[in-house]
Amino acid sequence: MKTIHGEGTRTILSGIKPTGRPHLGNYFGMMKQLLGMQNEGQVFGIIVDYHALNFIQNAEEMRELTKGVAIDFLALGFDTEKNVLFKQSDVPEHTELAWIFDTITTVPYLKRAHAYKDAVAKGGEEDISMGTFNYPMLMAADILLYEPDIVPVGQDQKQHIEFARDTAEKFNRIFAGGPEQSEGGLFKLPEEYIMKDVETVPGIDGRKMSKSYNNYISLFAEDSEIEEKVMAIVTDSSSERPENVYAIHKLLANGSTSLTIDKLEEVYRENKGQYKKLKEILIEDLKKFIGPLREKRREVARDTDLVKRVLEEGKQKARAVAGPKLVEVKCAIGVTP
Ligand code: ADP
Repeated sequence: MKTIHGEGTRTILSGIKPTGRPHLGNYFGMMKQLLGMQNEGQVFGIIVDYHALNFIQNAEEMRELTKGVAIDFLALGFDTEKNVLFKQSDVPEHTELAWIFDTITTVPYLKRAHAYKDAVAKGGEEDISMGTFNYPMLMAADILLYEPDIVPVGQDQKQHIEFARDTAEKFNRIFAGGPEQSEGGLFKLPEEYIMKDVETVPGIDGRKMSKSYNNYISLFAEDSEIEEKVMAIVTDSSSERPENVYAIHKLLANGSTSLTIDKLEEVYRENKGQYKKLKEILIEDLKKFIGPLREKRREVARDTDLVKRVLEEGKQKARAVAGPKLVEVKCAIGVTP
């Protein structure tokens, strides 16, 4: 395996769309895992702005959100000395490879994507952009260029990783396969890493927490937002405990704070039936968790030039891996001598 750290290093990669403020679902479902693996190998964190373009079609907003996500990662401790934080649009190899994958992929295959089906269910096929339709191929390129060993994601991305794996296999079969070369192939088959318990973090309405459902609690929320969002959590009086409150509370008992599962169970036992009280306790625990993160973020944001420097460096490091990989691909498909 080729990484900028040489042979034998484990590569870990994941991406996030700059479509809004990261929320607890993004953090516990993906960011925490990615950041936690920084010492286990080489981490690539991609701000996937071309994916976000399907949603954000305003230049100023795109710039702000992209910069915001970079600051978020830095505030959470992304080590840019050792690892690589970069913007998808800075590495044109991604879109070039996505085109190549488009040519070996059929329309019915892409129509199986849950994201596509959801979009059809919401607004009908007429309103779906080609960008939304081709999303899995660009994502396959994002992943396969860097030959990651694992891709930490939330459950909602499982199918997209399977698409990336299928696409790698198909490419390997068509262009690098044949009986005499049946071992391996140009692309390494990626594996998703989905952490049980946080595979789908629920939002305040009990559905998957998502920027697009407006049911999220921001990772760097102000105290007033924490109070407002927690008080708005939908509770169902028919159950033993307020499940939607408990589900969010449980995230904090996962090594992120001093709260333990045993302690949490005790709190819910002691306050059985007192939903308002339990929400107030959750508010306090969230404030304790988010407060220091928000402080750190403010500190990072003070260096107005930092993001530019970090992303420029990330771009160079990412292209040093993606560039040679695409050269191999172009050679395999026969567009270069
Ligand atoms: P969103 O779904 O909020 O638009 P992204 O698509 O940018 O977020 O997702 C970035 C990462 O966060 C992905 O790995 C995704 O699986 C993960 N993620 C997003 N929402 C959740 C959630 N509610 N629970 C667990 N992981 C999530």
